This record gives sequence, C-alpha cells and structure tokens, in this order.
Amino acid sequence: MDVNLTGGCLCGAVRFTYSGELGGMLGAVTVCHCESCRRAQGLATAVAPAEMDGFEVTQGGELIREYESSPGKMRAFCMACGSPLYSRRTDKPKALRLRMGSFDTVPDQLRVQAHTYVRGQPAWLEHMADAPWFDGPEPGRP
Ligand SMILES: [Zn+2]
Repeated sequence: MDVNLTGGCLCGAVRFTYSGELGGMLGAVTVCHCESCRRAQGLATAVAPAEMDGFEVTQGGELIREYESSPGKMRAFCMACGSPLYSRRTDKPKALRLRMGSFDTVPDQLRVQAHTYVRGQPAWLEHMADAPWFDGPEPGRP
C-alpha cells in the first residue's frame, strides 16, 4: 500500500516522514514475538516492511541510536526516550522495518497479517488475544 505518513518517538524529539510502499503488496503488518523484540520493546511488536528511500528523519536525527541486536540486525531507537523506531539489516540497505506504534496515524486498510516467531514465547503470553479488552485500565486497578 502506498502511504504518506508522519511519525515520531514518545518524547517528540525524533520526527520522521515516510512516503512509499508500506507493508508490501498485501499491506501486511506482522507482529513479531521473537525474544529480541520482546526485550527491546517490552512485548511483541507490530512492524511493516518499508523502503529506505521513503524514510526521512525531519527532526532529532542526532538522537537516533542503532543497536546491533544480532549480527547485521540494527535496531534504531530514540536516545532520549528509548522509543523503538525501525530496524534494518546491513545486508539489505534498501529495506527497513518500521515500528507501527511510532506512526501518528495509520490507514485503516492496514491489517495484521501474521504473528511471527511465536515458538518459544512464554506461557503467560500464549493466550494474550483471548484476554478481555478495556477502553481504559482494567476494573479494580488501585
Ligand atoms: Zn524520544
């Protein structure tokens, strides 16, 4: 799906635009449950494949740090607030995987197409989708 989106980190220091194909031909978003994503983002994270050429940091580029979480796999985040922004592979310089949570708004047509790397996830996560959803905090939270 061709998009023209804006996004940024939690503290607002890093801002970016993205114009181009997002999610590949199917408009696919995947939720990655691998241990690296869980530790880096606190839980499984929604990502979409994107084109490096369409990604432009418009503010706060000096705050972006990249961490090599496995050989050739770089995870970018805001140094001030820790927000994940994208990941990329050094052997695929034209591609990056944007973190869906960093966009300001996302087209309704984008859908989660798959959950990946679910093998080995902790038992406490296995039935996450079955848990009730609330508009705010869970009832009874102090
Ligand atoms: Zn930030």
